[in-house]
Amino acid sequence: MAGLTAGRTLQARGWEVTLLDKGRGFGGRMATRSVGSGQFDYGAQFFTARDVRFGEAIRRWESAGWVAPWFTQDGFEHEAHTRYRAEGGMSALAGHLAEGLDVRRASRVGSVEPSGAGWNVMADSGEVFRAGVLLLTPPAPQTAELLAGIATRLQPDVIPVLNSIVFDPCYALLAALDGPGKVPFPGYIRPTSGPIEWIADNSAKGVSRGNAALTIHARADFSDRYFDSPRDEVAAVLLEAAAPWMGGPATEWHLHRWKYSKPTTGDLPLCLFSREPAPLAIAGDAFGGSRVEGAFLSGLAAAGIFAEGF
Ligand SMILES: Cc1cc2nc3c(=O)[nH]c(=O)nc-3n(C[C@H](O)[C@H](O)[C@H](O)COP(=O)(O)OP(=O)(O)OC[C@H]3O[C@@H](n4cnc5c(N)ncnc54)[C@H](O)[C@@H]3O)c2cc1C
Repeated sequence: MAGLTAGRTLQARGWEVTLLDKGRGFGGRMATRSVGSGQFDYGAQFFTARDVRFGEAIRRWESAGWVAPWFTQDGFEHEAHTRYRAEGGMSALAGHLAEGLDVRRASRVGSVEPSGAGWNVMADSGEVFRAGVLLLTPPAPQTAELLAGIATRLQPDVIPVLNSIVFDPCYALLAALDGPGKVPFPGYIRPTSGPIEWIADNSAKGVSRGNAALTIHARADFSDRYFDSPRDEVAAVLLEAAAPWMGGPATEWHLHRWKYSKPTTGDLPLCLFSREPAPLAIAGDAFGGSRVEGAFLSGLAAAGIFAEGF
């Protein structure tokens, strides 16, 4: 979301933009995939708007038929924000946002190096991209890895700030059922104890058709403790804990392990900049806030500062 937002904003102002994403699909942690006949959002589950600029973007997307309200409040005490879902899943929204942009998917950036007044960006494919300015929006620890080789040439605050950012891991178990599940209306439940943080029925949410399709997110402490455990064992624990909301065994399941799920660090600027050794910005949800809206605002801020001449 950070990269797409910045790319769209700068391209609209006449910039020539290329986005490189190592993912095969669109959207990073706004991720959707199929398991059996079910469709699953397995990263971000919904988004909310607290900032007027994100609220305006959501209204535009709603008019285009890309997003729709899922629910408001319902158990999220003290938070009366409308929760939005994307038609066809989160990744489909990212795909819409990528329309008209030069997005190279399955293009992992292996290294970046300053060259003259700009940057050379080396993809694992061997392709080298030349850029006047560079915006990095991977999760902050991955950005730190990319910059490790040129750390001493950046403005001094950049690497310490990146190194201070901590992300929680998260297991996402996707379970396809052969009938309706038992997740209550409007299609999510937050168990109060046990290893599970959240269960959503993608069928009730409108992302999947037919039988229940459950996204089961483990709590951060469970995901951390069992991060290197055998997948079958982790899945068995989560399926057993989810049984009261399943109504029958899973016909198929898939376990995804998010190493970088949500940043837990707060109070950072909306993005980082370094003029040295060449124009560089760093954005993402670690800066704007640990949600889709935060990534949007961070990308918007990075684009704004580039557009204003840094
Ligand atoms: C399990 C889970 C549940 C969540 N639930 C919610 C929720 O309900 N509501 C909400 O608002 N938010 C939620 N979030 C958070 C939300 O998904 C993120 O805040 C937001 O999507 C982050 O966007 P981003 O652009 O900062 O980063 P990302 O979406 O992580 O994008 C970074 C991109 O960088 C790419 N990349 C990384 N390294 C390289 C490289 N070397 N070369 C090329 N490309 C690279 C990745 O492929 C990725 O596409 C959830 C996240 C997770 C994981």
